[in-house]
Amino acid sequence: MPDNNLILALDYGGTKLMAATVRVGERRWLALERSVSPPQHDGDYERATMLALARRLLGGVRPAAIGVSFGGPVDSAGRLVFLSHHIPGWENVPLCDQLEAALGAPAAMANDGNAGGLGEYAFGAGAGCASLLYVTVSTGVGGGWVFDGKIFAGADGMAGEIGHTIVDPRGPRCVCGQHGCVEAMACGPAFAAVAQARLRAEPGAGAKLRELAGGDVGRVTGELVARAAQAGDELAAEVLTAAALALGFGIGSALTLLNPERVVVGGGVAKSGADYWAALRAAARDHALPQTRVEVVPAALTDDAPLWGAVALAQNLLK
Ligand SMILES: [Zn+2]
Repeated sequence: MPDNNLILALDYGGTKLMAATVRVGERRWLALERSVSPPQHDGDYERATMLALARRLLGGVRPAAIGVSFGGPVDSAGRLVFLSHHIPGWENVPLCDQLEAALGAPAAMANDGNAGGLGEYAFGAGAGCASLLYVTVSTGVGGGWVFDGKIFAGADGMAGEIGHTIVDPRGPRCVCGQHGCVEAMACGPAFAAVAQARLRAEPGAGAKLRELAGGDVGRVTGELVARAAQAGDELAAEVLTAAALALGFGIGSALTLLNPERVVVGGGVAKSGADYWAALRAAARDHALPQTRVEVVPAALTDDAPLWGAVALAQNLLK
């Protein structure tokens, strides 16, 4: 039985799957289900588990449209998953075709950075903007570029990948193979590694950070660095500020190139406090042309930004 007012939103997140239903135009989930994936799982497991979640939510009803956020590169048309960097078995999967065949409704997809950006644009901190650059900083750095109500994915689906723009060619090696990418300097694990190296080299420094890590330097995470910095630890504050500057340089360059109305920054690292934000905004301002507006604001949505982006993708199919 079809329901012309029902949207199904799916988020394939790598460590967890989320599925939700919402009425067209509404801002509250009708139902939402999460499934945390076991270690060592594969694409087959994720596809089967997500379908089971979706079918349970739908209870035999056919939705009007399906929106999908995927945690990895997808084609510019939003139909094909190229691969997952974390989960085997996602190589060249026509996910939208499969979902349409299984659930009987049209589907549209974006990678999680773009979906998160569209979610903030439609339902969060970007509401009312004509253009928005979205940056999410946690264990990696993702991005999305939304223009005129739509994701601009680029010729190869790679637009908005601010995490792999280079801010220091002599900087640390990145997972992508380059050196000094924003991600290699600004994501949580990157600056946690810097903090660990400094704590080992400077036995007298970073007392608060050492205390938070229970005396075990190997347990220092990005989150602990941020907490120690906010508690006045000098070493932690220096490390966190360097990470904020790297991200700010990247954002400043993007501002000059794209001149978006607003930049929305989300992810766990964005919760690192007022000093972090001050350094980030100052670096962005310093690295953008003076005439370029620098409106850099925290994300309004949390973990479910990509899921809300999936809702917006699905609603765009109904226009
Ligand atoms: Zn990179």
